[in-house]
Amino acid sequence: MNATVRRAEATRVRAKFKKKDIQAAVAGIRGPVSFNRSLRAYTSFKIGGPADAVAEPADVDDVCRLVRQANAGKIPFFVVGGTNLLIRDGGIRGIVVNLAKLRAIMEEPGHVLYAEAGVGMPTLISYAIRRSLAGLEWAAGIPGTVGGCVVMNAGTRLGEMKDSVKAVRVVTMNGRVTDIPASAIPFEYRRARLPKGIVVGVWLQLRQGIRTEIERVVKDYLHYRRGTQPLAMPSAGCVFKNPPKDSAGRLIEAAGLKGLHVGDAEVSSRHGNFIVNRGHASAADVIALIGKVRRAIRRQAGVRLDLELKIVGEK
Ligand SMILES: Cc1cc2nc3c(=O)[nH]c(=O)nc-3n(C[C@H](O)[C@H](O)[C@H](O)COP(=O)(O)OP(=O)(O)OC[C@H]3O[C@@H](n4cnc5c(N)ncnc54)[C@H](O)[C@@H]3O)c2cc1C
Repeated sequence: MNATVRRAEATRVRAKFKKKDIQAAVAGIRGPVSFNRSLRAYTSFKIGGPADAVAEPADVDDVCRLVRQANAGKIPFFVVGGTNLLIRDGGIRGIVVNLAKLRAIMEEPGHVLYAEAGVGMPTLISYAIRRSLAGLEWAAGIPGTVGGCVVMNAGTRLGEMKDSVKAVRVVTMNGRVTDIPASAIPFEYRRARLPKGIVVGVWLQLRQGIRTEIERVVKDYLHYRRGTQPLAMPSAGCVFKNPPKDSAGRLIEAAGLKGLHVGDAEVSSRHGNFIVNRGHASAADVIALIGKVRRAIRRQAGVRLDLELKIVGEK
């Protein structure tokens, strides 16, 4: 895609909400706000059309204000950490909220860490290692934010978010802060049932460990991931959920689909459950490729693959 086409795409915003209503929803937000912004840079896939507005609240008070004002103006908002998303080429109407400014980590008594939702999982793991706190090793290599990892109940074969969460702080749709204990949150496979709103912080229950031992487990798991996943190429991690007692990657490989591509979207030759962007893939390319893979697996293995990847936005 050349620069002219990219610029045209970035300015192609369908007028679903009036600009003045969107401006009113973000008025007084102290963090940066930009309008008609391409979302490509906000996603690990490097794919995505424009958002009407992208807001980066400066702190939790800013999040509360944004939620209240957006609700008052009936403007939808959507939180983007960006590592499990395919944003369609038409982009997202309303406000995209990015929590990059919510990046504090605090240690509390009893081997508990409180992390604001915008903290990256790798940053949190490094922090835990420096304090010899064990319990997050399972998450080594997950690139999402702490908030996104709770919402998705992110997991690996070593564990999942629900094993580590003690409580979650949410700004609910009325713009108020509520703390919810983990025992009151139904966690499912790649999903946590939380009240509608924005997760702004998470308490994690860890335990005293031995720094070198924690480091060894993390290093070994990162080494394993580097050997089996296409980490040098833009992707959004695993595309499909694993069907019961099987692996989507295994099924895709067995069906001979590795290397299959539509435009610049390609089923990774390293890991069948990853689709990589070879450079200029559009969301439409990825969606077409997903359709081909699903149909082939249905035909050849009789298995219906469900998406782990979230597809959002407009065509
Ligand atoms: C190379 C690679 C490897 C990966 N490996 C794994 C893995 O091993 N295991 C795994 O589970 N995942 C993996 N992922 C996927 C991804 O990192 C996780 O799903 C992660 O939990 C997504 O976090 P995020 O912050 O990027 O959220 P996003 O992908 O941006 O969002 C996911 C959903 O959560 C919502 N959301 C995000 N943050 C908030 C918030 N603060 N409040 C309310 N809603 C929110 C979004 O609106 C969206 O609906 C991988 C991804 C990549 C690119």
